[in-house]
This record gives sequence, structure tokens and C-alpha cells, in this order.
Amino acid sequence: MLLSAPSPDPLPEPVPAPSSATVPAGSSRARGRRALHALVDWLVPPLCLVCRKPLAEPQSLCGPCWSQMEIITPPICDIMGTPLAFDAGPTARSPELRWNHPLYDRARAAAVFGPLSQRLVHQLKYQDVPGVAALMARLMSRSVREVTDEADFLVPMPLHRRRLAERRFNQAVLLADALSPLVGVPVRRRLVARVRDTNKQIGLSRHERANNLHNAFRIADPDAIAGRRVVIVDDVLTTGASADALAFTLRAAGARSVGVAVFARVVGNVREPA
Ligand SMILES: [Zn+2]
Repeated sequence: MLLSAPSPDPLPEPVPAPSSATVPAGSSRARGRRALHALVDWLVPPLCLVCRKPLAEPQSLCGPCWSQMEIITPPICDIMGTPLAFDAGPTARSPELRWNHPLYDRARAAAVFGPLSQRLVHQLKYQDVPGVAALMARLMSRSVREVTDEADFLVPMPLHRRRLAERRFNQAVLLADALSPLVGVPVRRRLVARVRDTNKQIGLSRHERANNLHNAFRIADPDAIAGRRVVIVDDVLTTGASADALAFTLRAAGARSVGVAVFARVVGNVREPA
């Protein structure tokens, strides 16, 4: 079942900046910092991360934008994390698994990939809008616990170095870094490299995509993977081909389990993200 968020901002309190915890609340430095924040908020009020409408809270969305967000709630497929039409218990499975079984153990996503989540992903990927990764990670932290609770570490989906040079940063690293303190699982950023640029997948059949992804990843330190429970972090799960290929590589290196935690996943016939 898909639900729109019922209230303008149902999120938990924003995660405080690490520096604020080091200053006693009543000290003159803390008072000075609060006054400075109040002044900055007055001069530059927080804005909705999608439509830029002024808001009371930073790192959030306005009511109309929230109402368009399709948060994934149970019942879901225990393996793929996709919404199910009716509740068949905690181990319910999507019929799609019969013809399309993933190579990872379980995936969880915060939202359905739709117009609103697509705009948020775009802000994260191309605009580098501050606060977007924090908001997405807060939403993810409530949906991905079933895969992160038992995990040893998070592995952001690597970008090929050519893509990294074009874009300057890997959005999956931003998400993993923001998610890590919320779920209490460390991030391993340089454990896996993408050695083939496999992003030109649009228009290829599933078979062609699988071929294209063969040997796409290289693990820097296989000893660090053997026997460990790994969670791949990414912004969007589209066809699942990249997650499958990375899961295959991690398993070949001896990973005990491979989970997937994403912000949004494509459900049904939604077109590929740009
Ligand atoms: Zn808005």
C-alpha cells in the first residue's frame, strides 16, 4: 500500500550538528551560537528542499510537496521491499520474484520513485542542495532497518571515475555518510571500485544489461568482505541491475549477506531516472 505523508512534517527532530554537542547548553558560547543561528534563519529562512517555499524547519519539505511523496509502508515484499496489494504476513513475497529474483538478500526503500522523489534525487545528484542528503537519510533510516540492523558496514554504490570527474561527488557516498550515524553502521567508502562505466543502460534488454555489468566492480580488499554482512547504499533502485552485479561481486568475495538500502525504488512501469 502506498501512503502519502499525512502531516506537513512527520519527521523526527533533525540530527543536531556534531559541534553543538561539544558546547554546554548554558555556556556563553552556546548562547552566542543560538543567537547566530536565529540571525541566519531571519536573514536566510529555511526553504522547502524541492519548491524553495519558506519553511519554519530546515532540511524539510512544505505541505504540498509532502503530500506528493509516496512513502512505502507495509505490506511489502520481504525480499524486494516493494509494496504489496494485501497483507500476507511478514514473509510475504512479490509474485515478480518468480521471473525476476535479485542476487541480493533483501532491499528496502523509503519511497516509490515518482515525480517528487525524482526531484529530490535530482537536487542531490546535480544541484548539491545542502540538506537534501540529510532529509533522504532520515526517511531511509525508518525504512531500511531490516537490512541495516544486522549489517557490519555500508558500501555506497561506486561511480566510475569518469562519472565522478564529471559530477565531482558520488551521491551514494553523501547518502551513506548521512545514514551511517542514524542506523549506527559504519561506511566503507573505498572497498569497492567501479572499473567499467556501466551507466549507459537505457534501452538495453535485461540480458544486455547483465552482460554490460559483468566484471563492472573490483574489490580492493577481499579479506574485508569475507564473512561480513554488507549493505549497498544508493539513491534509486531502477532495474536493480547494478545492485545485482555488485551483490554478485560481493558474494564472490565471500560476503555472508548483501542487503540494499535506497531512498527510492521504481515500482511497476515507471521510466528510468534521467
Ligand atoms: Zn515544497
